[in-house]
Amino acid sequence: MKNLFFALVLLPFFGSCQQLKSDPNKTTENSENKRSYSVVKTDAEWQQILSPLAYRVLRKAATERPFTGPLNDNKKEGTYVCAGCKIPLYSSAHKYDSGSGWPSFDRGEDKNLEYDVDYKIGYARTELKCANCGGHLGHMFNDGPRATTGKRHCINSAALAFIPAEDE
Ligand SMILES: [Zn+2]
Repeated sequence: MKNLFFALVLLPFFGSCQQLKSDPNKTTENSENKRSYSVVKTDAEWQQILSPLAYRVLRKAATERPFTGPLNDNKKEGTYVCAGCKIPLYSSAHKYDSGSGWPSFDRGEDKNLEYDVDYKIGYARTELKCANCGGHLGHMFNDGPRATTGKRHCINSAALAFIPAEDE
């Protein structure tokens, strides 16, 4: 009886595992998480160095409430770096007031940004991530300033840290 149980219940699992292994090119949802970044930390390590809100935004792709982030209204000259790994992402020269309630830029440091797609709210949006640590930053939309790039990088304040120009 035990053998019959084994054959009927467990074998199909072995069979399906085998199938996955035999197809190395198969892309699964998890393949995204396997992308290698220069800065890699465990969830526990991120939680130690980030504020609870920054952790939820950067590592769990949460969105802060609009008009709550300290950098939304910041008009000082300087550089916006990733709150997780401190790599430069945006310049104050490209920040503008979009009225959205989130820090908005018409362009970023392209070499340090990763453009991804998410379907979280039912349709495709361009997700912006830090290319150095994989942290979620926000989204990019096509309703930015027409006079420049036409792009709006809508970024969570909690995903950024600001370095004033006089400190650089
Ligand atoms: Zn980063």
